[in-house]
This record gives sequence, structure tokens and C-alpha cells, in this order.
Amino acid sequence: MDAGVQETVNGAVGLDAAFATSAYRPMSGQFDADVIIAGAGMAGATLALALHQAGLKPVLIDPAPFDTQLAPSFDGRASAIAYACFRQWRALGLADALEPYAQRIEQILVTDGRTPGAASPGASPFFLRFDAEEIAERADGEPLGYLIENRRTRAALASAVQAADIEVLAPARVVGAAFGPHAAAVSLADGRTLTAPLAVGAEGRGSVLRQAAGIECVGWDYKQAGVVATVRLARPHDGVAHEYFLPSGPFAILPLTDQRVSLVWTESVARAAALKSVRPEVFDAHLARRFGGFLGRVEVEGEVFTYPLSLQLAERLTRPRLALLGDAAHGVHPIAGQGLNLGLKGAAALAEVIVEAARLGEDFGAETVLERYARWRRFDTVALSAGMDLMVRLFSNDNPLLRLARGAGMAAVNRIGPARRFFMQQAGGAVGDLPRLLKGEAL
Ligand SMILES: Cc1cc2nc3c(=O)[nH]c(=O)nc-3n(C[C@H](O)[C@H](O)[C@H](O)COP(=O)(O)OP(=O)(O)OC[C@H]3O[C@@H](n4cnc5c(N)ncnc54)[C@H](O)[C@@H]3O)c2cc1C
Repeated sequence: MDAGVQETVNGAVGLDAAFATSAYRPMSGQFDADVIIAGAGMAGATLALALHQAGLKPVLIDPAPFDTQLAPSFDGRASAIAYACFRQWRALGLADALEPYAQRIEQILVTDGRTPGAASPGASPFFLRFDAEEIAERADGEPLGYLIENRRTRAALASAVQAADIEVLAPARVVGAAFGPHAAAVSLADGRTLTAPLAVGAEGRGSVLRQAAGIECVGWDYKQAGVVATVRLARPHDGVAHEYFLPSGPFAILPLTDQRVSLVWTESVARAAALKSVRPEVFDAHLARRFGGFLGRVEVEGEVFTYPLSLQLAERLTRPRLALLGDAAHGVHPIAGQGLNLGLKGAAALAEVIVEAARLGEDFGAETVLERYARWRRFDTVALSAGMDLMVRLFSNDNPLLRLARGAGMAAVNRIGPARRFFMQQAGGAVGDLPRLLKGEAL
């Protein structure tokens, strides 16, 4: 902990003093940090790096120290990262650490497979095919996205945060906050209190800062769980991602480096729990039924993980002295691999808003400044969340009428080049008014 934090913990700089001061001078020592970020997950750590690179002083707080987050049992998922979000990590200096583990997604094949064994010849003939080559010119030769195991991303972010000497309080848990006219005061479970002109809630779905600010959420439980496993293949996957829409929910086969794939297998909560606890031979047998023979011999590597799936959207992204980021603001179904991407797009926009305001001498925790972030992110967040929700409802069932409609829809999109390219650009995250980091530029 640095001297500034110690001062506040010991009471030398009290809350009243912080709340009473109106003019904020970055790095003046008046507060413990410029921005307190609750949650050192992938969204929070990305924001911290962006702010630090632009000369501001963030502090990260998390009950799980980076060492815990890197353990193989912490997070078995891999994430599809849109190419614009990957550009941001490049701009933050993470390329060397990430590129050896980033698998290019060259093609995505989406099939409405309603029979068991989606990859078998009995699967639906309706499919969609997205090919990186089709948008190569506009995307500067980028693939459709990258697949990276979360533990690799966490390791790269942790080293970059440590190398930048960004202050990390961990293990430490945020338990409450007060939002005054000029500062946020964030309380930790160990009795410490930190102050800053702005606090960011990046602590995931159970955000304490969101609750402390009285921001409500809307959403629902899908009564589904994602079963996640890493699988080694006997033959190359050629960078092709497969998504099958089955009545129980989507089943994704996502290419990883080193001839492996990450499976995200959506099932009812009870079936998912059963799959997690079955003997490896039984799991393999289920897997072989789902895969059919098209990927050859497969072998599960490591643990099988399950994640409950729900939709949870905060009713607002900001209030004076607080901004919400990542899953704290929006938790979506992984059907199209957009959850973390939304958080990374949010980090890019929020960092730019804060840094520009600080450079102009504005109070970046003020409502008028934070409203720029909310305006920038609101439409994309709500549109994507609603889109994901619609997809889950449309595809996670076996209603014959819906089956016909979605098959016809997929076949139509597949035949129309501009429609296909529209979806690819959207998934790449490189549309609309892009923050500089998403264009690969430093702040
Ligand atoms: C099966 C599955 C597959 C997915 N696949 C993809 C994909 O392919 N692409 C994609 O973009 N997204 C994907 N997602 C979504 C993605 O994983 C999440 O959106 C992302 O992890 C959210 O990151 P975050 O940093 O916002 O929150 P989190 O990862 O939840 O991090 C929150 C952090 O806050 C900390 N914290 C918690 N409480 C406190 C507290 N009181 N005080 C301080 N810190 C606290 C936690 O320890 C944690 O480190 C998937 C999700 C699932 C379930």
C-alpha cells in the first residue's frame, strides 16, 4: 500500500476533508488515487492499464489476488475476443504476452442442429458461414476474432499491472461506499476507507458499488448452465469455430492454439451438474455423441467447469462519482461470446472519457462527464444484450414453427453477402464511433 492510502487508513486525510474539497488536481495527493477500481478481473485490470498509460493513478481492489486468479481451477473458460478489443490489448502493450496463446478465428459455422449429434449427417441443412477473408480489406487482414484461454489473459494482465507498478490491494474486499459531492469513499472489509474523485464498479454481477449507489438491475435466469471443457483433437481445426443450436441451448466448439478446442455446452442446470460429476469415460461418451465423427478422436484435458447463465442489466451505467464496468453493468448469455467484449469496449470508452476530461482540467467524477461514457455505451450494451436474449429464446427450443423461421432466416443471411459482412463487422466490434484504444491507438 502506498503512503497516500496509508494516510487515509490512519485517518490523516478524512472523508470530510475529501468531500469538502471541490477542485481536483490529478496526482495531487489529495485523494488515495485518481480512480478506485473495485474488481481486478479482466475488465477492471484493462481499465487500470489504460488509465495508467495516460498518466493517471488507479488503484485496483480484489478479494482474489492475481496468483489465485491464475490457478488452473479458477477459470476454465476461453473467450472469443473481437478483433477491435484485441487491438486495445495491443495498444496497452500486451501483444507479446498474448499472441503466442491467441488462436485466430478464420471461419465461423453456425448450424441449426436439432437432432442429437449435431455434427452428424442428420443435422439441419440450415447453416451460416462467416469467413474472415470476406472482410479482410476492411478489417486490415484481422481474423474474425481471437480465442484465448482466460487464464492466459489474466496472466498477461497481471504481469502488465505489476510491471506498471499499479497499486493492487488484494486480498481486499469492497463492502460499501458513500458518494459525496466531490469524492467517492470506498470501504473495505478490513476497515480501511479509500477516497477518490471516481470509483468504478468492476466487481462482476454482484457489484457492491452498484448496490451502494442504489442502482437496480433487470434480468432473468435462463435456467441453463454452460458446461466448459478443453479438448485435445487428433486433427487440425483450421481456425474454424462451430456453433450448433440445439433444443437444450447452444453448443460451441471454439478453436484454441496447440490443436485444442474449448467447448461451451449449454444444458439445463440439472444436466450440467450431472455432466460435471460423471466419470471421465461417461463424459467422453456424451461428447462423442455430440461431436459425431467430424473432428476425429478427442480427449478432454483438465477439469470440467459449469457456469450458471442469466441476464442481468444495470438500469444505469453511472451516477455522480461512480461508473459501472463489465459484468457489474451487464451480464449476458455467452451465446455469441460478447460478455467480456462488452466490458472491454466499456473500458476503452470509459478510459477515454476520464483521460480527456482530466487533460482539460474537468472533474472526471462529475455527472456531466460520466454521462458521456453512459451515452457512448448505452445503445451498444442494450442492443447487444437484447440481441443475445432474443437468440437464446429463438434457438433454445424445438418449436417446429420457430425452427422453420430460423432456418429460413439463416439461409437468407447466408445468401446475402452484405448481411453476412454486417454481422462480421458487428462481431468484430469495429463499428460505430470507436474509442481510440479500439482502433489500436494509445490514449
Ligand atoms: C461459459 C461462459 C463463456 C463465456 N465466453 C465468452 C466469450 O467467448 N467472449 C466474451 O466476450 N465473453 C464470454 N463470457 C463472458 C465473460 O466471461 C464475462 O463477461 C467476463 O468474465 C466479465 O469480466 P469482468 O471483469 O467484468 O467481471 P468478473 O470476471 O466477474 O470479475 C470481477 C472481479 O471482481 C472481484 N470482486 C468480486 N467481489 C468483489 C468485491 N466485493 N470487492 C472487490 N472486488 C470484488 C472478483 O474477485 C473478480 O476478480 C463467457 C461467460 C461464460 C459464463
